[in-house]
Amino acid sequence: MSNSDFINKYVAEHKKQLEELRVKANLLAFDGRVVIIGDDDYPQKRLQYATTSVAEEYVSPRIILYPTGEKDIQKAIGLCHELKMAISVRTGGHQYCGYSSTSPVNMQIDLSETFPEYEYDAETNVLRCGVSHALGSWAKMNHDHGIYLPMGVCAYVNLGGHVHTGGWGMVARSHGLLARSRVSVRHHTRQRREGTNRAA
Ligand SMILES: Cc1cc2nc3c(=O)[nH]c(=O)nc-3n(C[C@H](O)[C@H](O)[C@H](O)COP(=O)(O)OP(=O)(O)OC[C@H]3O[C@@H](n4cnc5c(N)ncnc54)[C@H](O)[C@@H]3O)c2cc1C
Repeated sequence: MSNSDFINKYVAEHKKQLEELRVKANLLAFDGRVVIIGDDDYPQKRLQYATTSVAEEYVSPRIILYPTGEKDIQKAIGLCHELKMAISVRTGGHQYCGYSSTSPVNMQIDLSETFPEYEYDAETNVLRCGVSHALGSWAKMNHDHGIYLPMGVCAYVNLGGHVHTGGWGMVARSHGLLARSRVSVRHHTRQRREGTNRAA
């Protein structure tokens, strides 16, 4: 997949800023992958559900970071502050209007591989799992553990978005949305604090 005219033009017009960004990104000692607009794999990495229906300028981040864990997320937030960028968060990339992507002045953090935890405690009937799961494989894991949680029907939607802006499926009339089964959620804030919100 090659760069579009839009990307080529953007890169040519912002050569100096992009070089500075690469230097700063290298200094981060980021464990995960870093993809900057103009890189060979950028056209493929920016793809998500809405890239075919939203103008390219709104779904083309300047830099896409793939954190390997919480430390990488803090480094990404630090870079974002330093460069006065905004961050968009993507997990499964299925937001209909491309809101998990952003324009080339901003940064995208992709959590599709960052949080694969899955621990089911049969005694308390509590599942602790990361946001990176895609619904299809997550449903299978749930089935293997003898549990079921309300969810939608697209196998490639991920928990990251689905748990708070989705979770509507065939059992919704009897079991409600996925969020109704949520006990707590761990979050990361702009101030580099982490916390846990418990559901009422
Ligand atoms: C083909 C298709 C079928 C669908 N079917 C259903 C269905 O049957 N039932 C249903 O309820 N919904 C359905 N949806 C809607 C889907 O559940 C939502 O769009 C959901 O938000 C997608 O989550 P995602 O992680 O895949 O998407 P993303 O685009 O990655 O994220 C969606 C939103 O959540 C935010 N976000 C993502 N990850 C995180 C995170 N880790 N922390 C904080 N914010 C985050 C993003 O910034 C964005 O605003 C469908 C969507 C599509 C495109």
